Amino acid sequence: MHHFDHIDGALHAEDVPLETLAAAIGTPAYVYSTATLTRHYGLLRDAVAAHPTALGEALIAFAVKANSNLSVLATLARLGSGADTVSEGEIRRALKAGVPANRIVFSGVGKTDAELAFAIDVGVRQINVESAVELDRLIAVSSSLKQRATASRAIATPEIAIRVNPAVGAGGHAKITTGGATDKFGVPADEAHALYARAAASPHVTPVGLACHIGSQITALEPLEAAFRALRAMTLELRAAGLSVSRLDLGGGLGVPYHGQSDLPSIEAYVAMAARVLDGLEVEAAFEPGRLLAANAGVLLSRVIQVNERGDGRRFLVLDAGMNDLMRPALYDAFHDLVPVRARAGEPRLYDLVGPICESTDVFARDRLLPPMQAGDLVAFMGAGAYGAVLASEYNSRPLVPEVLVDGDRWAVVRERPTYEAMLEREPKADWL
Ligand SMILES: *Cc1c(COP(=O)(O)O)cnc(C)c1O
Repeated sequence: MHHFDHIDGALHAEDVPLETLAAAIGTPAYVYSTATLTRHYGLLRDAVAAHPTALGEALIAFAVKANSNLSVLATLARLGSGADTVSEGEIRRALKAGVPANRIVFSGVGKTDAELAFAIDVGVRQINVESAVELDRLIAVSSSLKQRATASRAIATPEIAIRVNPAVGAGGHAKITTGGATDKFGVPADEAHALYARAAASPHVTPVGLACHIGSQITALEPLEAAFRALRAMTLELRAAGLSVSRLDLGGGLGVPYHGQSDLPSIEAYVAMAARVLDGLEVEAAFEPGRLLAANAGVLLSRVIQVNERGDGRRFLVLDAGMNDLMRPALYDAFHDLVPVRARAGEPRLYDLVGPICESTDVFARDRLLPPMQAGDLVAFMGAGAYGAVLASEYNSRPLVPEVLVDGDRWAVVRERPTYEAMLEREPKADWL
């Protein structure tokens, strides 16, 4: 479900024609829909609110790494969203966008001491600890911060969850699986108990729960249910040992219909499953959706530079967007539907969709059936609101792709395209050159 539709033959983002945006800011550019973000967040919030007993005062924490644009974060923050973050930079973004610190979760496999100290200092809700060595470092950082605390500047003991690796890998591609036994994320289930007990014995951290996140673009509920059941079993085990567990962080990972699939689990079914598994535990649940909220809320707008027809019949649609702007196809063989902005008549033909980058992986798709296309035509890659702009680079010295947020009939550039001068000015010449 999204708010990018053809109206009178021209693709719009809500009430704004994409042609208007292309004329005003040029291409390529990401365009986000406020109505779509709002709808997705609302569906999840309502689904969670339908299970108050099983899920408690549940937290929805948007995974900032999926789309960290400040205006996107501010849109979600106004709706009540928290933030799941994986770096100091993401915590700073969430705070700047208006997410209260007590709704920010800090996850990640390799948090530095400086990042841990920053998170404790600003008072994030919860730090998800992913290994025994990280727990030791966190205890050391917390203890040294407390020694330096003053009467006017008290430092709270950080509340932590242990991220368990439930050994259920899942996800749309091997490169986005995180919960398999050999993945680098989380603590193996048989070590988690001892780690939790060790945390409970320290005065410098307060263990409050368990967390998991098994992968991304998961299109069936079974692996998620298996992971949630593992959290449940471990909760009962920890409680039997006299330890207190009051929060379960269920991670993100629910997939979205990039191909227009209709058989994906609904948000309601996903949340109902979680409620069933957690029923009776009396914990506060947390959900960390990234893709689910943002993917279909964004498109990448691009223009056809030229059409190369080869003697062997292969036809290349050469776009002004490249893998540096939208990396998912090159990185994970991801599928993005490509839609002509002006609906066109004519017999559809096969095209290879390619960018201008000097890499053979700069291919978005092979053999896509499209109406006859010409140089200058505008096209939109659908489903590009998550893991799109955040992965963009200036490879081939192409200025970073800009971002636009639409809300009804208004729009704003929410990240500017740098000028060539601005791009080059960031590189001071070494003084001996
Ligand atoms: C990436 C990530 C998420 C979000 O994943 P999606 O597939 O975008 O929902 C949630 N939690 C953690 C810990 C993550 O690393």
